[in-house]
Amino acid sequence: MADSERIAASFKARGMKKASSYKQANYVVVNTCMVRESAENRVYGLVNNLAKIKQEKLQNNEVYKIIVTGCMVGIAVRDKTGRYLGRLKEIMPAVDEFMPIEEVGFDFAPLRTNKTEAWVAISNGCNNFCTYCIVPYTRGREVSRPYEEIIKECQNLKEKGYKKVTLLGQNVNSYGADLILNFNSQIPRSKQISNFNNENHIENLKLKIGNLRIRPIYVKHLGRHRIPTLFPHLLEEVVKMGFETVDFISSNPWDFSDELIDVIAKNKNISRTIHLPVQSGDDEILKKMNRWYTAKEYLDLVDRMKKKIKNLRLTTDIIVGFCTESKEQFQNTVRLVKKVGFEKAYIARYSPRPMTTATKKFKDDVPSEEKKRRWNILNKLINSKS
Ligand code: SF4
Repeated sequence: MADSERIAASFKARGMKKASSYKQANYVVVNTCMVRESAENRVYGLVNNLAKIKQEKLQNNEVYKIIVTGCMVGIAVRDKTGRYLGRLKEIMPAVDEFMPIEEVGFDFAPLRTNKTEAWVAISNGCNNFCTYCIVPYTRGREVSRPYEEIIKECQNLKEKGYKKVTLLGQNVNSYGADLILNFNSQIPRSKQISNFNNENHIENLKLKIGNLRIRPIYVKHLGRHRIPTLFPHLLEEVVKMGFETVDFISSNPWDFSDELIDVIAKNKNISRTIHLPVQSGDDEILKKMNRWYTAKEYLDLVDRMKKKIKNLRLTTDIIVGFCTESKEQFQNTVRLVKKVGFEKAYIARYSPRPMTTATKKFKDDVPSEEKKRRWNILNKLINSKS
């Protein structure tokens, strides 16, 4: 939705105005999602319908352009062989333009229809390469928007009377790690933060960004240091502007630092519903998914959050039927779900996505009936509570 608001703004800047329906329009932009196979198939169905309208319009000498953007085009522009783009053109011959979302940029204020609640994108892309996930291929590597630019956008929203902002990123709480690295590249090599092998060096290193002093943090289960993120600081600065509610989505468990928990705990206007994707409750499956935590570490994090954040409600994402997931491994997910007590879950039946490690290396060997059965169990357990 946030991307669509930016797309609308860029078309308005070209002198266009919103049509009452896509049948009335002259230009139709389809903003695509590829996270699951079903989402991709819906795009093909929609474009097929648009193609019929286009045919009628052209017969009446009217302009009708179909522009496809979003994740589908993201993957096509990153595929250097050009094969993926060729495939899209073949499946959707009526499309006039495949437009990378990056072309839209952040130059124009998003055309928001909601006058009280606003989405604010703070980063785009992902570096984590979970083995099932297409996002690093569709959206590229993680790029954080400049800190000051986000602050300015939020201040403008506050001045316009917005009551709620939701900060957005594929990994919203990893925000700023790349900014720290960029900052790094501007200082002498001897002082760079990437010299992680020398503990004393790390201890003594004090990088300064604005008023912040940044030091790398040691991640036990990875056995290495990780660049910390600026998210807790950004969140706190936005909160201080006085919105009724500040929300953020989607956070990953491994960047959910104690510092972030403290910021949430002490600021009542930060949403108490936090989305914390777990994906599986089984350690072997988590490892296979390249998720950087064990079930116990996830549960420990939840405990720390529950202790400090009053009235916390957790929502999550879970994939059932991931490659080789046995019934016992699925039961570990059921056990974790019961321990956490999620408010809501987005449950996906695993479907192989192009380019991902899981598609290349693992077998999608859980039968679809079994995936459906597991989906029903979790859905009943989490989403059907009255
Ligand atoms: S699941 Fe999330 S963290 Fe993992 S690769 Fe996809 S976007 Fe990145």
